[in-house]
Amino acid sequence: MEILRYPNPFLRKKAKAVKKIDEKIRKLIKNMIETMHAAPGVGLAAPQIGESIRLFVVDTGEGPFAVINPKIKSKSKIMQTFEEGCLCLPGIVGPVSRPSKITVEGLDRLGKKITIEADRYLATILQHEIDHLDGIVFIDKVKDKTQIREVSKKFEEENKELL
Ligand code: ZN
Repeated sequence: MEILRYPNPFLRKKAKAVKKIDEKIRKLIKNMIETMHAAPGVGLAAPQIGESIRLFVVDTGEGPFAVINPKIKSKSKIMQTFEEGCLCLPGIVGPVSRPSKITVEGLDRLGKKITIEADRYLATILQHEIDHLDGIVFIDKVKDKTQIREVSKKFEEENKELL
């Protein structure tokens, strides 16, 4: 699947909730996981491949999973800053401050309710992906734009944990 490139206006749309979790959605999830792995990346939201629905996939090395219709139930007051990147903005990274712990509720690929308590790096990834569902990209949240820097393809591959 083709990953849209910023500033494609599609990336600014607010995505709609998934109404029915059927084989079509499961096939999309499978394709999104393959696309994420091939990129390579650690997260991919449906709007990034041109599907305006609330769904994303993540794989931090412990196996891929999908979250459908995610909602952030709680977030810590304590913030953390990671240098983020995005498959829609290849070649650049920048520091983003986000709550360090969050609880996300959603549905899995079979429509079962799931609750994810995430901290550290996973907390940042989940928030980055949920932002995509609301038309937000990470550079919107880099406070000091001079801190956005270019990186090489090789650097990106060696630092996959930078999203
Ligand atoms: Zn992204």
